[in-house]
Amino acid sequence: MKPVEIKKQEKGLEISWSDHQKTFANFGSVRKSCTCAVCKEIKVPLNDTMPFYERSITLQKMELVGNYAIEILWGDGHRSIVSFDRLRASTIEN
Ligand SMILES: [Zn+2]
Repeated sequence: MKPVEIKKQEKGLEISWSDHQKTFANFGSVRKSCTCAVCKEIKVPLNDTMPFYERSITLQKMELVGNYAIEILWGDGHRSIVSFDRLRASTIEN
């Protein structure tokens, strides 16, 4: 499954898939589920009471990684690689 279009919205990414389904990936959920080594080792997980939370879930830049994932650069300088499978697992819009 591949995205045919990824639109940046205020709160997340609206994704249209090759099977005509649409999903919405909320920035907060995407960042919180980051699977990089750094995030896995952090003992206090990111939460919305933290002072720089808004910055941490602000998308600064997004690019494709090969044909399996996107890389997101967040407002706090962190990078997340999000596979299409994980994006696809986000809520399906009606
Ligand atoms: Zn991470």
